[in-house]
Amino acid sequence: YDDRDGKIWMDGELVDWRDANVHILTHALHYASSVFEGERCYNGKIFKSIEHSERLRKSGELLDMPLPYSVAEIEAAKEATLKANGFTDAYVRVIAWRGAGEDMGVAAKRNPIRMAVAAWEWGNYYGDAKFKGAKLDIAKWKRPSPETIPHNAKASGLYMICTMSKHAAEAKGCSDAMMFDYRGYVAEATGANIFFAKDGVVHTPLADGILNGITRQTVIGMLKAKGVEVQERRIEASELADMQQCWLTGTAAEITPVGQIGDYTFEVGQMIKDLSSEYEALVRA
Ligand code: PMP
Repeated sequence: YDDRDGKIWMDGELVDWRDANVHILTHALHYASSVFEGERCYNGKIFKSIEHSERLRKSGELLDMPLPYSVAEIEAAKEATLKANGFTDAYVRVIAWRGAGEDMGVAAKRNPIRMAVAAWEWGNYYGDAKFKGAKLDIAKWKRPSPETIPHNAKASGLYMICTMSKHAAEAKGCSDAMMFDYRGYVAEATGANIFFAKDGVVHTPLADGILNGITRQTVIGMLKAKGVEVQERRIEASELADMQQCWLTGTAAEITPVGQIGDYTFEVGQMIKDLSSEYEALVRA
């Protein structure tokens, strides 16, 4: 993947894709001192671009690594990257990390905080599950308590258990894993938020131990604008048996229906179909 044409923005400069490298003693590689964003550009415009840039800065603050770039500078970096690669529709990855420097220990205030932006074409995150409904495994790893880790940061360190859970799920023929939180309530998938519907009412976990996704917030707003009741609340595992529809939301996942979680099954119903086409229209508007 590193051997291809294209440009990547790194610390203020556009470099060749092949040259976008970091040193092996990069602090982030050893201690997970990095935060990132996943964004999608549709018809030449990144959906909720400023919200993503603001979240990146917030994630940095939460990890005690304030970014040396303003929202306007992050916006300009993303624009420059898309332009340099000639993309109008692409996935955009912005990453900020603590680099190599004076410090090789855990504390590393003297090491520079760096940033890069890459973009590439990325179709449906869940392949044809986007239409048929994804099959999810139940992860053995739990989302950590907010007293353990800043759950609202989109921080690389939080993804260690996600990768492990997704690998285990794929080994069982599933597309992803649903994770419970540290208390045992339904939380989220490894890179997307989760929603359920029953008798026309929508239920989604409270954002008190998960990433409060930008797509999640968009979808809640869309549903409420249509007059649909949305309950943000603690959802018990036993409730899965009664839910009729289920879907995931995320920048990469967009709106992906879920057909199965463990032994529980759900229909790809009208609410999901309507929501998918409305979301598609919104991001392309
Ligand atoms: N939860 C997790 C763990 C994620 O990685 C993502 C993807 N960023 C989401 C939820 C969805 O967030 P968003 O809608 O902001 O992409």
